[in-house]
Amino acid sequence: MSKVIAIDGPAGAGKSTISRLLARKLAYRYLDTGAMYRAITYLALEEGIDIHDTEEIVKLSKKIEMQITPPDENHISHIIINGRDVTDSLRTKEVDLNVSTVAKNKAIRELMTEMQRNIASSGNIIMDGRDIGTRVLPDADYKFFITASLEERARRRWKELREKGLEVSLAEIEKEIAERDREDSTRELAPLVKAEDAILIDTSNLSIQEVLDKLISYIKDEGNV
Ligand code: C5P
Repeated sequence: MSKVIAIDGPAGAGKSTISRLLARKLAYRYLDTGAMYRAITYLALEEGIDIHDTEEIVKLSKKIEMQITPPDENHISHIIINGRDVTDSLRTKEVDLNVSTVAKNKAIRELMTEMQRNIASSGNIIMDGRDIGTRVLPDADYKFFITASLEERARRRWKELREKGLEVSLAEIEKEIAERDREDSTRELAPLVKAEDAILIDTSNLSIQEVLDKLISYIKDEGNV
Protein backbone atom coordinates (compact mmCIF):
# COMPACT_ATOMS: atom_id res chain seq x y z
CA MET A 1 0.00 0.00 0.00
CA SER A 2 1.24 3.43 -0.89
CA LYS A 3 2.20 5.51 2.15
CA VAL A 4 3.15 9.09 2.87
CA ILE A 5 5.30 10.09 5.85
CA ALA A 6 5.60 13.71 7.03
CA ILE A 7 8.54 14.77 9.19
CA ASP A 8 8.67 18.29 10.59
CA GLY A 9 10.77 20.06 13.18
CA PRO A 10 13.16 22.93 13.86
CA ALA A 11 16.59 23.49 12.28
CA GLY A 12 19.28 20.96 13.10
CA ALA A 13 17.02 18.39 14.78
CA GLY A 14 18.28 15.63 12.45
CA LYS A 15 15.26 15.43 10.15
CA SER A 16 17.18 14.95 6.92
CA THR A 17 19.59 12.35 8.34
CA ILE A 18 16.68 10.33 9.71
CA SER A 19 14.56 10.80 6.60
CA ARG A 20 17.37 9.53 4.37
CA LEU A 21 17.90 6.43 6.49
CA LEU A 22 14.20 5.75 6.73
CA ALA A 23 13.83 6.15 2.96
CA ARG A 24 16.57 3.57 2.42
CA LYS A 25 14.99 1.18 4.92
CA LEU A 26 11.49 1.45 3.44
CA ALA A 27 12.64 1.91 -0.17
CA TYR A 28 10.62 5.14 -0.31
CA ARG A 29 11.47 8.39 -2.06
CA TYR A 30 12.69 11.26 0.10
CA LEU A 31 12.03 14.94 -0.54
CA ASP A 32 13.88 17.59 1.45
CA THR A 33 11.50 20.55 1.12
CA GLY A 34 13.95 22.88 2.90
CA ALA A 35 16.26 22.46 -0.09
CA MET A 36 13.53 23.88 -2.34
CA TYR A 37 13.32 27.11 -0.29
CA ARG A 38 17.10 27.16 -0.12
CA ALA A 39 17.38 26.87 -3.93
CA ILE A 40 15.22 29.95 -4.47
CA THR A 41 17.19 31.85 -1.82
CA TYR A 42 20.43 30.84 -3.51
CA LEU A 43 19.19 32.13 -6.86
CA ALA A 44 17.89 35.38 -5.36
CA LEU A 45 21.24 36.03 -3.67
CA GLU A 46 23.10 35.18 -6.84
CA GLU A 47 20.98 37.61 -8.86
CA GLY A 48 21.53 40.32 -6.25
CA ILE A 49 17.84 40.59 -5.40
CA ASP A 50 16.97 42.27 -2.11
CA ILE A 51 15.62 39.37 -0.06
CA HIS A 52 13.17 41.71 1.71
CA ASP A 53 11.74 43.10 -1.52
CA THR A 54 8.50 41.13 -1.81
CA GLU A 55 7.76 42.35 -5.34
CA GLU A 56 11.17 41.33 -6.66
CA ILE A 57 10.89 37.94 -4.99
CA VAL A 58 7.46 37.40 -6.57
CA LYS A 59 8.91 38.36 -9.96
CA LEU A 60 11.68 35.87 -9.42
CA SER A 61 9.22 33.15 -8.42
CA LYS A 62 7.44 33.63 -11.76
CA LYS A 63 10.55 33.02 -13.81
CA ILE A 64 11.86 30.11 -11.77
CA GLU A 65 11.65 26.73 -13.34
CA MET A 66 12.32 24.15 -10.69
CA GLN A 67 12.70 20.44 -11.28
CA ILE A 68 13.23 17.75 -8.68
CA THR A 69 15.01 14.72 -10.09
CA PRO A 70 14.20 11.13 -9.12
CA PRO A 71 16.52 9.98 -6.29
CA ASP A 72 20.11 9.22 -7.33
CA GLU A 73 22.09 6.15 -6.16
CA ASN A 74 22.40 7.79 -2.72
CA HIS A 75 18.62 8.34 -2.51
CA ILE A 76 19.07 12.09 -3.00
CA SER A 77 16.79 14.09 -5.26
CA HIS A 78 18.65 16.87 -7.00
CA ILE A 79 17.23 20.35 -7.39
CA ILE A 80 17.48 21.81 -10.86
CA ILE A 81 16.66 25.47 -11.06
CA ASN A 82 16.46 27.17 -14.46
CA GLY A 83 18.35 24.19 -15.88
CA ARG A 84 21.16 24.19 -13.26
CA ASP A 85 21.79 21.61 -10.58
CA VAL A 86 22.24 23.71 -7.41
CA THR A 87 21.94 20.84 -4.90
CA ASP A 88 25.48 21.10 -3.61
CA SER A 89 25.40 24.88 -3.13
CA LEU A 90 22.49 25.13 -0.73
CA ARG A 91 24.00 24.60 2.70
CA THR A 92 25.98 27.81 3.00
CA LYS A 93 25.93 30.33 5.80
CA GLU A 94 24.57 32.98 3.46
CA VAL A 95 21.61 30.81 2.49
CA ASP A 96 21.08 29.86 6.18
CA LEU A 97 20.83 33.53 7.10
CA ASN A 98 18.35 34.48 4.36
CA VAL A 99 16.16 31.44 3.70
CA SER A 100 13.56 32.17 6.40
CA THR A 101 12.82 35.56 4.85
CA VAL A 102 12.24 34.00 1.43
CA ALA A 103 10.13 31.23 2.99
CA LYS A 104 7.71 33.83 4.39
CA ASN A 105 6.73 34.90 0.89
CA LYS A 106 3.18 33.90 -0.03
CA ALA A 107 3.76 33.40 -3.77
CA ILE A 108 6.82 31.24 -3.12
CA ARG A 109 4.99 29.12 -0.51
CA GLU A 110 2.03 28.55 -2.84
CA LEU A 111 4.35 27.45 -5.62
CA MET A 112 6.36 25.11 -3.39
CA THR A 113 3.30 23.62 -1.68
CA GLU A 114 1.71 22.80 -5.02
CA MET A 115 4.89 21.13 -6.28
CA GLN A 116 5.30 19.19 -3.05
CA ARG A 117 1.72 17.89 -3.19
CA ASN A 118 2.19 16.82 -6.81
CA ILE A 119 5.38 14.97 -5.97
CA ALA A 120 3.71 13.24 -3.00
CA SER A 121 0.64 12.22 -4.97
CA SER A 122 2.27 9.07 -6.32
CA GLY A 123 2.88 7.87 -2.73
CA ASN A 124 5.67 5.98 -0.98
CA ILE A 125 7.45 9.14 0.02
CA ILE A 126 9.01 10.74 3.06
CA MET A 127 8.88 14.53 3.06
CA ASP A 128 10.59 16.68 5.65
CA GLY A 129 10.21 20.37 6.39
CA ARG A 130 8.30 22.75 8.65
CA ASP A 131 4.68 22.59 7.46
CA ILE A 132 4.38 19.15 5.91
CA GLY A 133 2.09 17.59 8.53
CA THR A 134 0.09 20.78 9.06
CA ARG A 135 -0.32 22.26 5.55
CA VAL A 136 1.28 20.38 2.71
CA LEU A 137 0.12 16.86 3.52
CA PRO A 138 -2.40 17.08 6.39
CA ASP A 139 -3.66 13.59 5.50
CA ALA A 140 -0.22 11.94 5.65
CA ASP A 141 -0.31 8.35 6.94
CA TYR A 142 2.37 9.10 9.54
CA LYS A 143 3.43 12.42 11.02
CA PHE A 144 6.49 12.92 13.15
CA PHE A 145 7.72 16.08 14.84
CA ILE A 146 11.42 15.71 15.48
CA THR A 147 13.10 18.11 17.84
CA ALA A 148 16.02 18.49 20.26
CA SER A 149 17.19 21.14 22.70
CA LEU A 150 18.64 24.27 21.14
CA GLU A 151 22.02 23.53 22.75
CA GLU A 152 22.13 20.04 21.30
CA ARG A 153 21.07 21.15 17.83
CA ALA A 154 23.71 23.89 17.82
CA ARG A 155 26.35 21.45 19.04
CA ARG A 156 25.54 18.98 16.25
CA ARG A 157 25.69 21.69 13.57
CA TRP A 158 28.96 23.00 15.03
CA LYS A 159 30.49 19.53 14.95
CA GLU A 160 29.36 19.02 11.35
CA LEU A 161 30.94 22.33 10.27
CA ARG A 162 34.16 21.61 12.16
CA GLU A 163 34.39 18.27 10.43
CA LYS A 164 34.18 20.14 7.13
CA GLY A 165 37.15 22.20 8.32
CA LEU A 166 35.24 25.40 9.13
CA GLU A 167 36.21 27.38 12.22
CA VAL A 168 32.96 28.60 13.74
CA SER A 169 31.88 29.63 17.19
CA LEU A 170 29.31 27.46 18.95
CA ALA A 171 27.66 30.53 20.50
CA GLU A 172 27.24 32.12 17.07
CA ILE A 173 25.65 28.99 15.62
CA GLU A 174 23.30 28.74 18.57
CA LYS A 175 22.24 32.35 18.02
CA GLU A 176 21.63 31.80 14.29
CA ILE A 177 19.60 28.64 14.82
CA ALA A 178 17.49 30.33 17.51
CA GLU A 179 16.81 33.24 15.18
CA ARG A 180 15.82 30.99 12.25
CA ASP A 181 13.48 28.99 14.53
CA ARG A 182 11.93 32.21 15.80
CA GLU A 183 11.30 33.41 12.24
CA ASP A 184 9.92 30.05 11.11
CA SER A 185 7.65 29.64 14.16
CA THR A 186 6.22 33.14 14.28
CA ARG A 187 5.50 33.76 10.59
CA GLU A 188 1.92 34.19 9.51
CA LEU A 189 1.87 31.59 6.73
CA ALA A 190 2.38 27.91 7.54
CA PRO A 191 4.49 28.46 10.67
CA LEU A 192 6.58 25.72 12.18
CA VAL A 193 4.25 24.05 14.64
CA LYS A 194 3.65 20.45 15.62
CA ALA A 195 0.53 19.02 13.97
CA GLU A 196 -1.90 17.89 16.67
CA ASP A 197 -1.74 14.33 15.44
CA ALA A 198 2.07 14.22 14.96
CA ILE A 199 4.21 11.98 17.14
CA LEU A 200 6.73 14.06 19.07
CA ILE A 201 10.28 12.71 19.24
CA ASP A 202 12.90 14.56 21.26
CA THR A 203 16.28 13.40 19.96
CA SER A 204 18.44 15.33 22.48
CA ASN A 205 19.56 12.16 24.22
CA LEU A 206 19.09 9.64 21.43
CA SER A 207 21.51 8.25 18.87
CA ILE A 208 20.58 8.32 15.17
CA GLN A 209 19.92 4.58 15.32
CA GLU A 210 17.64 4.99 18.35
CA VAL A 211 15.62 7.67 16.58
CA LEU A 212 15.34 5.52 13.47
CA ASP A 213 14.24 2.50 15.54
CA LYS A 214 11.59 4.62 17.24
CA LEU A 215 10.11 5.79 13.95
CA ILE A 216 10.15 2.30 12.54
CA SER A 217 8.44 0.95 15.65
CA TYR A 218 5.48 3.29 15.07
CA ILE A 219 5.26 2.31 11.43
CA LYS A 220 5.68 -1.35 12.29
CA ASP A 221 2.93 -1.16 14.89
CA GLU A 222 0.53 -0.79 12.04
CA GLY A 223 2.00 -3.73 10.18
CA ASN A 224 3.66 -1.77 7.41
CA VAL A 225 7.30 -2.76 7.76
O1 C5P B 1 15.19 22.17 6.56
P1 C5P B 1 16.09 23.34 6.27
O2 C5P B 1 16.80 23.84 7.49
O3 C5P B 1 17.00 23.11 5.12
O4 C5P B 1 15.07 24.49 5.82
C1 C5P B 1 15.53 25.76 5.46
C2 C5P B 1 14.43 26.81 5.66
O5 C5P B 1 13.40 26.63 4.69
C3 C5P B 1 13.71 26.79 7.01
O6 C5P B 1 14.42 27.48 8.01
C4 C5P B 1 12.38 27.44 6.66
O7 C5P B 1 12.49 28.85 6.68
C5 C5P B 1 12.13 27.01 5.22
N1 C5P B 1 11.22 25.88 5.11
C6 C5P B 1 9.86 26.14 5.13
N2 C5P B 1 8.98 25.13 4.93
C7 C5P B 1 9.40 23.87 4.72
C8 C5P B 1 10.78 23.57 4.72
C9 C5P B 1 11.67 24.61 4.94
O8 C5P B 1 9.46 27.28 5.34
N3 C5P B 1 8.50 22.90 4.50
